Amino acid sequence: MHEFRWPLLGVIIPVLIIGFTAYGSHYFILRHHLSTTQQVIYECFASMIWISYIMAIYTSPGHPPKDYTPKKGEWKRYCTKCQSYKPPRTHHCSKCNRCIMEMDHHCPWTLNCVGANNLPHFMRFLFWVIVGTAYLFVQLCERIVGYYDDSDKPMYLIKRSELVAVVVFTPIDLFILLSITVLFIRCLINIGKGMTQIEIWEWDRIDSQFYSKRLWKSIRLSYKQSYGKELPQLTTWTNRAPVNDDDALPMEEMNQHEINEIGEGEALDGVATESQSRGVESDATAQQEFNNDDDDEDEEDIVPQNFTIDDLMFPYDYGVWGNLKHFLGSPFMWLVPWGKPKGNGYDLEPSSDYKEDDQLGLPWPPDGGNQNITISPPSDDELKRGIRNYSQLKKQLDPRSNAKRSSWHNDTGERLLDYGVYVDDSDDDKL
Ligand SMILES: [Zn+2]
Ligand SMILES: [Zn+2]
Repeated sequence: MHEFRWPLLGVIIPVLIIGFTAYGSHYFILRHHLSTTQQVIYECFASMIWISYIMAIYTSPGHPPKDYTPKKGEWKRYCTKCQSYKPPRTHHCSKCNRCIMEMDHHCPWTLNCVGANNLPHFMRFLFWVIVGTAYLFVQLCERIVGYYDDSDKPMYLIKRSELVAVVVFTPIDLFILLSITVLFIRCLINIGKGMTQIEIWEWDRIDSQFYSKRLWKSIRLSYKQSYGKELPQLTTWTNRAPVNDDDALPMEEMNQHEINEIGEGEALDGVATESQSRGVESDATAQQEFNNDDDDEDEEDIVPQNFTIDDLMFPYDYGVWGNLKHFLGSPFMWLVPWGKPKGNGYDLEPSSDYKEDDQLGLPWPPDGGNQNITISPPSDDELKRGIRNYSQLKKQLDPRSNAKRSSWHNDTGERLLDYGVYVDDSDDDKL
């Protein structure tokens, strides 16, 4: 998250840019070429930008009720800062110093969090900026084409102030149009998936750590803490049959399978005999280790082998249409400045798909954000045994694989802290 030395600059800069672009272009260019109706339409776009921006700044992102108590069967999450329980999807913002329902991120450009209640305003703001700048861009292009057509005319026939304005506003307008469109599409994709930016971040973390001991130790701990018993066999998590044939292979067959592949690969290099004999040897070792694991369910076995991130479900994904309505409210109100989201931000029902497939009653994130787990990096032997494909190997070797939730960062380098979320070492989401 970008932080300003003087936070007010976060609002002053956009105000200056919007005002300068909208009214400068109108005064120096558009009023000479557009009809009155077209000018009124252009000013309406500008007004919608101002209104939605002001609403995004002044509308509260939504704070959970002070006396919120988790519903029966709901994961108990406690905010040590607010000294109260927080609903699912709520995070404590370190900048606003309050709990924010369905927190998306803390926005330095509005000096406010984007959360359940003001996300529609934020999206409307982006939308109207795109509409306004796209409209202006078409006008600027027409002027540029006009100059090109008139290039054989004498210079004094061209209004100089307008020419300067076109040169100044075209790059500014194009830059705003492109950057805001990218941001808008990114937000729409998140909304379509039913997730806030923070939840997308959380999903990426789980994906990246999926084959790590840290994650599975935390999941087991989360489960034990809430149900007082060990996590059941993970094949019962979903009813889905393995899709890939390879997935269906029992461990001992899989090792054989893999070793055959190694043997074949090396045979091409002309060392077939040696590799095959080595192959048999490691096969026997792996088999022995596998059996040992079977006897005592030790740490070695903690990462499930025929289980992928696709088996995991996000509890609040109601399908694209349902998600759009959840975050932005009724479609008839999407463009209306006072349009509200569907729910109240704390009375959250998991999707019916999720309820059918109860995901063992684990919270989101399934490791409960447990931070206090110590982990040693996987040994060469463990890597050899557990790895079935390249993507798994890549994940296990990723230095972030066993990072704590507070220090994990996504591919663009963002930590939870960068969204404004308060995470301390005693952890954000623990029981
Ligand atoms: Zn809080
Ligand atoms: Zn905030």
